[in-house]
Amino acid sequence: MIQDIAPHTFHIAYRPDRTPKPSDRLMVCRADTFFLTDGAQGAGFPRFDAIPDPGPVRWLFEIDETGFYLCEGEPSLPPGGFFRPVSFFRQTGAVAPAMAKWQRFAGVTAWQIVRWYRDTRFCSRCGGKLTHSEKERMLFCKACGQTIYPRISPALIIAVYDGERLLMSRYRHSRDTGPLGETGVLPAGYMEVGETPEQAAAREVWEETGVHIKNVRYYKSQPWALTDTLLLGIVAELDGSDKITLQEDELSAAGWVHRQEIVRETNDFSLTNEMICAFASGRL
Ligand SMILES: [Zn+2]
Repeated sequence: MIQDIAPHTFHIAYRPDRTPKPSDRLMVCRADTFFLTDGAQGAGFPRFDAIPDPGPVRWLFEIDETGFYLCEGEPSLPPGGFFRPVSFFRQTGAVAPAMAKWQRFAGVTAWQIVRWYRDTRFCSRCGGKLTHSEKERMLFCKACGQTIYPRISPALIIAVYDGERLLMSRYRHSRDTGPLGETGVLPAGYMEVGETPEQAAAREVWEETGVHIKNVRYYKSQPWALTDTLLLGIVAELDGSDKITLQEDELSAAGWVHRQEIVRETNDFSLTNEMICAFASGRL
């Protein structure tokens, strides 16, 4: 998954008073693109010393000892660099561009913080201008005291199995075609107010496919920065009838796929793919 960057380690601790080092990285974001330069490991974020006059910067996070800072001004950029859209960071497979995984993870994680700062400037209660906290990644309103933290919405991905078969589906908006075993996904959705993950899993699977589940257990999680989501991977067993009633507003297809009919690339960055591969190889 995209957050699995070992032996590198991600540190989100808030350190706005940290002094930048020449080897730290600068993230220059324009619209939904980031400035990259070429290096020994392929594309990457420019070092601090490659941009002599970066203007105002804001602390983001650290990977190992390397700090990442967001450029808040419009510095002059070194020649040879290029802007790439956020989708560049999650391209996988044989045609994926060269870029170290820890920098891809830095890119999508920065994008979540950048969007939050960009879209959270005024108090939603009184309309006052928001101020950055010195102590934590939080914005507050001096007028009314409201505090605002980054958006993180819990959501579920559910692998429902019946013996050797996995319940797979396809979203209505998907342009994928072909067998579900090659391009299908798993039932998924956001948690609602007041729900436990177990209740949300049962509701989502029933809403999308009309089947009931039992023996619900936790698998793994994934912070999915592109949608401000914390994904919880859930495994469950079919309970009762395997008859599928498709939720046609959301899905174009759903079906039971035998373990041996599943064909996936194992180097995908998503929890969905990790769970599908785990089922196919008998690890789920
Ligand atoms: Zn306010």
